[in-house]
Amino acid sequence: MSKDSFVESTETLKKTVPLMIKHKVPTTPTNYALWYTYATQQQPTLNHAVDQGIEALGHCTPTLCDSLYQEHLASQTDKDVAQLKQSLTAMMQELTSTMSDTLSNAETFQGALSHTFSKLESAEREGLSLEDTMTLVRELIRESRQIQLTTGTFKGQLSNAQQEIAALREALSESQKEANQDALTGLNNRRAFERDIHSYSDNQIPYSLIMMDIDKFKDFNDNFGHLLGDQVLKIVARRLLECSRDYAQSYRFGGEEFVIILPHKTLSSTRQQAETIRRAIEKISVLDKKSGKRINSVTASFGIATKQEDETTADVIARADSHLNQAKQLGRNRVLPIN
Ligand code: GH3
Ligand code: MG
Ligand code: MG
Repeated sequence: MSKDSFVESTETLKKTVPLMIKHKVPTTPTNYALWYTYATQQQPTLNHAVDQGIEALGHCTPTLCDSLYQEHLASQTDKDVAQLKQSLTAMMQELTSTMSDTLSNAETFQGALSHTFSKLESAEREGLSLEDTMTLVRELIRESRQIQLTTGTFKGQLSNAQQEIAALREALSESQKEANQDALTGLNNRRAFERDIHSYSDNQIPYSLIMMDIDKFKDFNDNFGHLLGDQVLKIVARRLLECSRDYAQSYRFGGEEFVIILPHKTLSSTRQQAETIRRAIEKISVLDKKSGKRINSVTASFGIATKQEDETTADVIARADSHLNQAKQLGRNRVLPIN
């Protein structure tokens, strides 16, 4: 590594981890890539998207992090990605040794520090001035001491992060996208939903849920065929995306069931949102090629719920689901509860 990239990586690294902790971001390889790039401030569109996403969702949900990574980093040319990997690997090595320093006892800590010194010496051989080097060393020592003095929670986070870093080299190239996406509709899938909803709860961010189920869809398939059924599922997914202003909120829960997480929304604005979607689905019109006729009979039922403070995620999902069942029993194509 050249002296410039060494100094820059160290500087960026110092910003990256605190940022991730601040925004409650899980320490996965792709998240490191995302937040490292964020800290460099070299991609204004990325920084803007991250800021906007956090504002909309209250924190950086796992799915938001993944989709930002896919959109802004994974799509770069191979060359850029290779460079990113290289700089990340270098950064991880630094971070790993810094963390070992922090977590071990005083004696090992000193030993590890001198390891850092020798690394710095090699940076100096590459042309860093003695003065610059000493400044860097002094900063490193000061920071390491500060970290060493902080609470056990922070140490726990660091130790956790350290484990994740170990997985980085193997996992960096692995695409997270497929794992979170539903192949038919392109929406986030059940797995993404589970991760996100727990992330909201873990971070004590209030939210409401819309659970939605297409009405009499078995009959639709029986009457018009599974392929046209698939077509309807895709159109429904598109309507969901169009109706929800913030991205990364709609999920295919399974089969013909969908779920939306609405951070910071009251029950009444959640109901409005569900009504908007209900009307949009009612308007769907698909052509049955066999008969040449248009089908305008697609509807869906909705159950909504707002998470109460003492509730688990399972509780709030169950409540939305039981409201959905009531909506079915009362004749379908409606949102429950009505007030
Ligand atoms: P209800 O109004 O009570 O929800 O009736 P329903 O027929 O929609 O409910 P049911 O659970 O009996 O049937 C769900 C149907 O959804 C059966 C299944 O064939 C269909 N389905 C689930 N996943 C897919 C899919 O990926 N493609 C298609 N075409 N159909 C699907
Ligand atoms: Mg169903
Ligand atoms: Mg159904």
